[in-house]
Amino acid sequence: MKIKENLDSYLKYVSNWEEKIGSFLEFDISRTKGMSTVEGQLAGIPFGVKDNFAVEGFNITCGSKILEGVSAPYTATSVAKLQAAGAVVVGKTNLDAFGMGSSTDNSAFKITNNPWDTNRVAGGSSGGSAAAVAAGIVPFALGSDTGGSVRQPASFCGVYGLKPTYGVVSRYGLTAYASSLDVVGVVARTVEMTKTVFDTMKGQDIKDNTSVSHPGSRNNGDVKKIAVLKIEDGSLSDDVAKSYLESRKLLEKLGYDIVEIELPSLEYVVPVYYTIATAEASANLARYNGLRYGYRSKNGNDPGEIMQTSRDEGFGDEVKLRILLGTYVLRSGFQDQFYHKAQKIRTAIRNEFDKIFELADLIMMPVFPTAAFKHGSTDLDPFQQKVADRYTCAANLTGLPALAIPSSIENGLPVGVQFTAPAFEEDRLFNIAKVLEKDFPSPLAPGTKNWSII
Ligand code: GLN
Repeated sequence: MKIKENLDSYLKYVSNWEEKIGSFLEFDISRTKGMSTVEGQLAGIPFGVKDNFAVEGFNITCGSKILEGVSAPYTATSVAKLQAAGAVVVGKTNLDAFGMGSSTDNSAFKITNNPWDTNRVAGGSSGGSAAAVAAGIVPFALGSDTGGSVRQPASFCGVYGLKPTYGVVSRYGLTAYASSLDVVGVVARTVEMTKTVFDTMKGQDIKDNTSVSHPGSRNNGDVKKIAVLKIEDGSLSDDVAKSYLESRKLLEKLGYDIVEIELPSLEYVVPVYYTIATAEASANLARYNGLRYGYRSKNGNDPGEIMQTSRDEGFGDEVKLRILLGTYVLRSGFQDQFYHKAQKIRTAIRNEFDKIFELADLIMMPVFPTAAFKHGSTDLDPFQQKVADRYTCAANLTGLPALAIPSSIENGLPVGVQFTAPAFEEDRLFNIAKVLEKDFPSPLAPGTKNWSII
């Protein structure tokens, strides 16, 4: 079924699925006119953009009441490059406010359901992007990944999720959460689409002075030896443990040289991540003060009071928690105890990864300890959700590229597996993913359709 020739039934399909999953905060049907574009590598392909990216003509709420109704005055470089290649932004996808969360339940506007089971979360914080791709609404969507927010929802929804090397895709126009960890990521249905979108977006940008040009792979992306993380701490659910073991067996069967490894520093990634991420967030979110743009409280008699009440009424609980934690770890006299210590451990973690890459081309580990959990706190409470970030946030702390790949269906829910590569070795990730895709392509959720795009 081709979207272009069946636009009416595509739009009906979109609204049917959207009613069930709520993946978009804004969906502009008139934009599909742009799908008649005939030029460019991504000509006419519709895509969704997480609502913490600026796209001219759309709002940018970051999933928070404090930015409700704010429209973007310019377009993020990553999005502009895709538009220049002919792709068409059809809407803005739901997220945990400012990217803080693992469920998309922390959005101020609505929850997003997993297309595989609408009682369950699509993951987060880029849950809207992953759900939209898994439901077949768009063949790819952009997300941001600060601690796993592209890979974890991709894995919950049975699609691909790429976190590139830090700095390789411009962050200009992406709302800052934790600037030293934030990257622009891709959620897509196929490996080829993931790679094309990444290749289109990458490159140095004068508007982001932390961006770098991509030097290309040092070994043509060849993969021979894979380091598999040994996990014996009982941290994985039965479903994920089973799937993980099967992925390892499959690699062996395919003839890869497997070496089992341990990463002792993994124990520290969650505390280090939450120290650094909240410290940076407390600084980045200081700009939302109710005075310049966005939500302004009616309660308050002077600018100081208005600032206070606007922030109190505009930010959600999770965001407030993190701002408080961030100011706590940064308060004067305590920086050595928390923030500086975390930075030192961050370096030690990176060194541990670099050592592994002296003996292997890639590292395999799980994405998340469980499959998609239920809405609310019945399966995993907010604290347990943070602890569960242990397998994803290492790639952000080290800056290394990582890809979540669908690996199996367990009890009706997709499970993914994650590969991490040395810096700038995204091609190794695409190569292994292509091999595994032949064995297990991105599975279609019941009732969803794989729309062909041209
Ligand atoms: N679960 C992580 C967090 O809550 C993911 C954040 C992200 O990557 N934006 O911080």
